[in-house]
Amino acid sequence: MNSPAPATLVIATRNAHKVDEIRAILGDRFRYLILNDFPNVPVVVEDADTFAGNATKKSSELARWFTMVMPGGDQPWPDLVLADDSGLEVDVLRGAPGVHSARFAALDSAHPGNSSDTENSAKLLRLLKDVPLEKRTARFHCAIALTPVLRDRIESASPVCYADELAMQTQTFDGVCEGRIGFDPRGTNGFGYDPLFVPKGFDQTFAELSEELKNRLSHRARALAKLKAALDA
Ligand code: IMP
Repeated sequence: MNSPAPATLVIATRNAHKVDEIRAILGDRFRYLILNDFPNVPVVVEDADTFAGNATKKSSELARWFTMVMPGGDQPWPDLVLADDSGLEVDVLRGAPGVHSARFAALDSAHPGNSSDTENSAKLLRLLKDVPLEKRTARFHCAIALTPVLRDRIESASPVCYADELAMQTQTFDGVCEGRIGFDPRGTNGFGYDPLFVPKGFDQTFAELSEELKNRLSHRARALAKLKAALDA
């Protein structure tokens, strides 16, 4: 007898590293697709003021799109959509850059959009110029949202009610990695604020540690571990 086909999980990203990290933790219980598999997929504006809010907005809007507009073609119908949002929270900056982590430097410019990792790190170091070591505490924070694609609600609900229902059906999982911000960028691994972030219990920055070790300590790994525990249960 054939075993049933695995459920199809769409990961709301175009970042191959994220997909590898998620696949490594969740294993082969799913067939994985990413946004590149759907050429017409809409861009979701990440304008919520929390990581969980942005992740939920992304996963529920995409789940709604899959139900309402799912293009034909060879792809299987998605069963679930997973989205994440993450960033850095610095205590002395009252949680900034937070949900603005990717565009921290661009917030100061007349042309908002994402800024480069170098520009964002330079701004962070400038703001922390006179802050002593013991006050440079910070954390990476990740929220993962998982929304089911509800096939049988298409006829019965208005688009607005349906979007609300999907947001209500969304489960979120948080992960944090505590640490502090160094005084200079160090290391060449990773991305974003990695050269400035020293995880608690280490002297090296994330950019100096191996990818394998970072992937065990990281905020994303911790949120994914909670998601995996919920799926296993
Ligand atoms: P995203 O939500 O994963 O796209 O992350 C948003 C922004 O947060 C990135 O552009 C980075 O600036 C920062 N960030 C998130 N995770 C990490 C990390 O693991 N290392 C360094 N920077 C990160």
